[in-house]
Amino acid sequence: MPAEVAILRIGHRPERDQRVTTHVGLTARALGAKGMYLAASDKGVVQSIADVAERWGGDFFCEDNVKWRACIKEWKAAGGVVVHLTMYGLNLPDIIGEIRPQGKILVIVGAEKVPGEIYGLADFNVAVTGQPHSEISSLALFLDHLFSGHELRNEFPGAQIRIIPSRAGKQTEEL
Ligand code: SAM
Repeated sequence: MPAEVAILRIGHRPERDQRVTTHVGLTARALGAKGMYLAASDKGVVQSIADVAERWGGDFFCEDNVKWRACIKEWKAAGGVVVHLTMYGLNLPDIIGEIRPQGKILVIVGAEKVPGEIYGLADFNVAVTGQPHSEISSLALFLDHLFSGHELRNEFPGAQIRIIPSRAGKQTEEL
């Protein structure tokens, strides 16, 4: 598995994207990313994700007020690569083999139109099909292909609660 994956969420509009951005963060956390940088100010999103992480374990971070250019620059300076999820990129199965061996991956997802500069700053522009859909679905599929499905068995140390998988009904255990 790559050592480190983080998400950079750009274009977030606090008045209408709170739910989707929170779900981008929760998806990233559940599927093996270490954290999310939010290129906007939104303490509501940060708090919702922190609440989930505290109860369900792991050490996922969410940082708002991030300047996206500086975030990309610092990530690259630290030896990381940048993946931009966009329907205009190379299709996921054609490029994931080049991305998988990278040790440090920043995944950019947009909300509405992404600044053109991002396409040039990214090391990989990756499409999850050439059809328009969503930042949540594209991120989920990207992470699943990146981790080859192994992330589905990840553990979340320090959790206060755990689900006991059941064929029917809902079973949980307080830890
Ligand atoms: N119309 C916008 C544009 O042209 O940039 C995209 C809006 S879409 C609702 C929001 C985000 O979902 C995009 O910035 C991209 O990160 C992601 N996305 C949507 N469809 C995608 C696809 N087929 N492949 C990869 N990412 C996708």
